[in-house]
Amino acid sequence: MLIVPEREIAGLISASDCFTAVEQVFASMAKKSAYNFPVIREAIGHADALYGFKSGFDRESLALGLKSGGFWPNNMAKGLTNHQSTVFLFDADTGKCRAVVGGNLLTALRTAAASAVSIKYLARPDARVLGMVGAGHQSTFQLRAALDQRPFEKVVGWNLHPDALDRLAKVAAERDAPFEAVDLDTLGGQADVVITITSSFAPILKATQIRPGTHLACMGTDTKGKQEVEAELFAAVTAFTDEIAQSVTIGEAQHAVAKGLISADDIVEIGAVINGDHPGRTSAEEITLFDGTGVGLQDLAVASATVDLAVRKGVTVDVDL
Ligand code: NAD
Repeated sequence: MLIVPEREIAGLISASDCFTAVEQVFASMAKKSAYNFPVIREAIGHADALYGFKSGFDRESLALGLKSGGFWPNNMAKGLTNHQSTVFLFDADTGKCRAVVGGNLLTALRTAAASAVSIKYLARPDARVLGMVGAGHQSTFQLRAALDQRPFEKVVGWNLHPDALDRLAKVAAERDAPFEAVDLDTLGGQADVVITITSSFAPILKATQIRPGTHLACMGTDTKGKQEVEAELFAAVTAFTDEIAQSVTIGEAQHAVAKGLISADDIVEIGAVINGDHPGRTSAEEITLFDGTGVGLQDLAVASATVDLAVRKGVTVDVDL
């Protein structure tokens, strides 16, 4: 069994490798070659932690396994990140554990890759201004991946606590993109693409704030109760997601579905667009929305790619179980 430690991940896999892995697995999911198993997420009643598993199998790449981990809110005081995860990969032919891979950086990279994939397939070709809602840990990854995807000429950002926007300004400066801190009306009025990446439990963006032709990538809502955009806004867009089952239960769609404004049939898996089975955006006026809920297959895809790179570089630790 191979071990790829967390400390090696940054030197092994690039954002571009993660983009390719996530694009491929979304395509496999829409072809029904790859499927996610039911998600487990539990408050364990110790250290205020939420712990769980996301797992699945991709019959095309033969990636089989799970990501296990969760959220330990008191970790920061111990010098550790609050989100902790590890990916376990199994040999699909024998069931033997093939690899254990540090999952923290990979989670950030695969989440950023998902919104970048949605921008590639759904944003207008002439999109020039990127709007960022949220400036937490994950936001810089989403911003970098978006700037890799399109030649945005300007980034506008909003955060509940504006001080944190410096984080986004620094990343924009690395890429020579002007950055401006704005209010939500200005953000919606200027942005051609908006990425939301917050932990909000109440709608932040209203339908009236979003212009025709915008592409929204809603990435923060991954749990029952979280919400980043008004249900009425969700009901007015052409909606895409990574996985419909997650979108309507723990994703951004949950609120529009609960209000009876839309049903699961109104949402398209982005893999269908990647495969050419759905046209994606069909006009310059349409508002498109990608509900990125985060699936286990994304984790397995980037972890498998990382193991292949680690073997090639000779940085794995090999142990007998
Ligand atoms: P973080 O704790 O570092 O940052 C949280 C962000 O949410 C900050 O910008 C904060 O200002 C904002 N926020 C919190 N409460 C808010 C409110 N009521 N209104 C508006 N903004 C609010 O977290 P992070 O690591 O940046 O992750 C952000 C979110 O993304 C989390 O909810 C996390 O669970 C989610 N996430 C989703 C995926 C996925 O695959 N979809 C993957 C990773 C993280």
